[in-house]
Amino acid sequence: MFCGCRVEFGAPPNTLVCPVCLGLPGALPVANRRAIALAIRAALALGSRVNALSVFARKHYFYPDLPKGYQITQYDRPLALGGSLELPSAGGPVRIRRLHVEEDAGKSLHDRFPQQTAVDLNRAGVPLIEVVTEPDLRSAAEARAFLGRLKQTLEYLEVSDCNMEEGSLRVDANVSVRPVGAREYAGKTEVKNMNSFSQLEKALEFEAERHIAILKSGGSVQHQTMLWDPARGEARPMRGKEEVHDYRYFSEPDLPPLTVSEEEVARIGRELPELPWQKTQRFVSAYGLPEYDAELLSATREFADYYEAVVGGGADAKTASNWLMGEVLAVCNERGVGIGALGVKPARLAELIGLVDGGSLSLGVGKQVFRRMVETGKRAEEVVREEGLRTVSDEGQLEAWVAEALAESPREVERYRNGEEKLLAHFIGQVMRKSSGRADPGRLREILLQALRG
Ligand SMILES: [Zn+2]
Repeated sequence: MFCGCRVEFGAPPNTLVCPVCLGLPGALPVANRRAIALAIRAALALGSRVNALSVFARKHYFYPDLPKGYQITQYDRPLALGGSLELPSAGGPVRIRRLHVEEDAGKSLHDRFPQQTAVDLNRAGVPLIEVVTEPDLRSAAEARAFLGRLKQTLEYLEVSDCNMEEGSLRVDANVSVRPVGAREYAGKTEVKNMNSFSQLEKALEFEAERHIAILKSGGSVQHQTMLWDPARGEARPMRGKEEVHDYRYFSEPDLPPLTVSEEEVARIGRELPELPWQKTQRFVSAYGLPEYDAELLSATREFADYYEAVVGGGADAKTASNWLMGEVLAVCNERGVGIGALGVKPARLAELIGLVDGGSLSLGVGKQVFRRMVETGKRAEEVVREEGLRTVSDEGQLEAWVAEALAESPREVERYRNGEEKLLAHFIGQVMRKSSGRADPGRLREILLQALRG
């Protein structure tokens, strides 16, 4: 945030450091203009007002991973105020209170040396934004949904990779409860530094229940900072020393106030990408997709772009949507990868969809072909040719399969002729197995009906 060190997760400890982030005497911070621009980008997407002037402040606390003894953040004059994020599942917008920029601290490593704690300062000085909401979330599930929406938005903006395992997105969650009908909330606790959706939800549920039990037994909830222990599934108060709230904020004397011109804000505003909810709306209006499809397809920019390229390649909009939400997503999930990593170009998927729509392949065989395309990197036509998968409409071949099938099930034939017409499905199934799914269903039905009439 205030020096030129590279940001890289997993680099050897203490290799991405300089006098500024190490807090050496005489080193002076300089605000990173690019980080500020990204923060403004996030603020604008959340509908926040960007302040023409904001002020950096020192937040003091003593901890081994904080060599300066203070963190540079923003306090009473943050970069941006207000805004909201629409969250349909919470019944409306969640208001944003503020958004500010700050630097990250280093990391304590407890697993490198027996009985000792080591410090890695690579992360010290990495730019962060902190987004604070108003208390508009009413359940752990809503909090989780909000975090999902925020993550999706930040990913669309390319402000952060939001990799939670690597700590690029972390959550401090405040919890309070109130008796039904009451206006005022009872005491509040804060659960710090969670880095997974499911842990956030569990921690909030745990805390809410703990608060309710305290209130029911006539006690009062102490304002406390809690640490969530995923292994034990419980939140524990942080030890006193880590919880001292006297941060002795004052304006950072080594940095001038941060000024942002109207022109700069306007320029960043013009460069904002289409946001998830805008894309969803456009998919509904431009492609006539159901809201459900549009929402799912716009889950990530990559998926949405891929979808549009398949449609651009000539596939019908709804058919392409069905393919993406069905077989394609299934293969992505099985492999645990994004759509780009499957190695099937959108135009190639459009070709395959064309073969199915044109009747050259049944849908079932088409899905098999897609899997082969992922495995081999070949085009649909090639897979079909090499593996003999094209739909069989040839009369002679179909008649031969039908004759075999009827000969194998004389009793079913008799029952069918005695009025059990639903057995038609049984014969269709038999021929489909014989043809490995390649029999043209329309022609097969005609020939089968004819043969059964006998
Ligand atoms: Zn540095």
